[in-house]
Amino acid sequence: MSKSVLVINCGSSSIKFALLLEDQEFRIHGLAENLGTPEARIKGVTVGNEPVDIRIPNADHKEALEVGLSRLANYKPDAIGHRIVHGGTLTKAELITPEIIDRIREATPLAPLHNPAHLVGIEATQRLFPDLPQVAVFDTAFHQTMPAHAYRYALPKFLYTEHNVRRYGFHGTSHAYVSERGSELAGSYKEGGWLTAHLGNGSSTCAIWNGESVDTSMGLTPLEGVVMGTRSGDVDPSIHSFLAQNLGWDIYKIDKMLNSQSGLLGLSDLSNDMRTLIEASEQGNEDASLAIEVFCYRLAKSLAALSCGLPRLDGLFFTGGIGENSAYIREKTMSYLPHFGFNLSKERNDGLKRGTEGRIDSGKGPQIWVVPTDEEGRIAQETKQVAFHEFDAEPECLKKSEHGIALA
Ligand code: ADP
Repeated sequence: MSKSVLVINCGSSSIKFALLLEDQEFRIHGLAENLGTPEARIKGVTVGNEPVDIRIPNADHKEALEVGLSRLANYKPDAIGHRIVHGGTLTKAELITPEIIDRIREATPLAPLHNPAHLVGIEATQRLFPDLPQVAVFDTAFHQTMPAHAYRYALPKFLYTEHNVRRYGFHGTSHAYVSERGSELAGSYKEGGWLTAHLGNGSSTCAIWNGESVDTSMGLTPLEGVVMGTRSGDVDPSIHSFLAQNLGWDIYKIDKMLNSQSGLLGLSDLSNDMRTLIEASEQGNEDASLAIEVFCYRLAKSLAALSCGLPRLDGLFFTGGIGENSAYIREKTMSYLPHFGFNLSKERNDGLKRGTEGRIDSGKGPQIWVVPTDEEGRIAQETKQVAFHEFDAEPECLKKSEHGIALA
């Protein structure tokens, strides 16, 4: 019988958790936020689908998990899967052992905000569930198949050999899931050349050949690449010396500006939220319109550039909150990409119900699909594979279509 998996995504002051039961169709979600502060609370739904909002002033990660999981009544996990942002050069999900904990700690300089928080989460769940297998699923692992010409920066060699300075890529569980599911829908499971555009608060693109990542837009950190909610994406690296010399900014101020005050928020001077910007643009806000235009243009440029990693281009998958829900952003992006024979069907694009999967090209040229991502499902699947050697008899995506998710 299939097992239940508790998926944990631990941030510095928050924990997202989800219990995925047996066939993964039934899920219980929770979010603990503001941990370590008087405003700490847990929001979610109970097993009976009742909303939960519990105040847990000053609770830490372990207390929050204890309170949250005590609400799961008789539903107990068989294993725990941790989302880990940076796995260094680890190439796949791993059973958590002291050695793997060391590897996650060693990758901390590459993800200083994320990896220490993940370690806190691992310690908390190990204390709560000492007998359960725990698995680390890395955002970076899927991209370890990139060739050196895609992952090396044109920097002095010793920075790579002695200090691991290279491109790693992120959002790996999403790009892996979406490209598998999408290629299955297209009738060529894990075959051919595909581009994925994961567009959420963080956004990235990926090129996938025969099921393996061959290039991606994010690099050493998740700052590189396309325009995001608050992250700049690519800028001239000389911006650091320009701001230091002309404005007297130190490295921390520059880093904060690039990560938290830039992107859609910086351009629009209004919001990092695409929905808000589309509404403002409709009401004539020119900064919001420009932010949207830059987002779509730079995204199209990234996709065009990544196509160089593919011997053949079969199509493109949109995913993430923006990619799944905004026909407007998809249309605007494709308007900058007529070059590969892409041919968006306005009718199909506009007609696709929000949050569902479906094909949106006109039938000519490379295919274009919307494929809702399922990072939790993917983490649970990889956790079961590592912990119990439980492999699905058929792709997870085939099972899903039996459960009635709308196909185009
Ligand atoms: P995260 O990276 O935090 O998981 P999501 O994948 O949930 O983020 O994406 C959040 C983004 O999706 C926000 O910018 C939000 O405005 C955008 N979004 C959600 N629904 C729509 C919509 N209908 N139209 C445009 N943007 C949308």
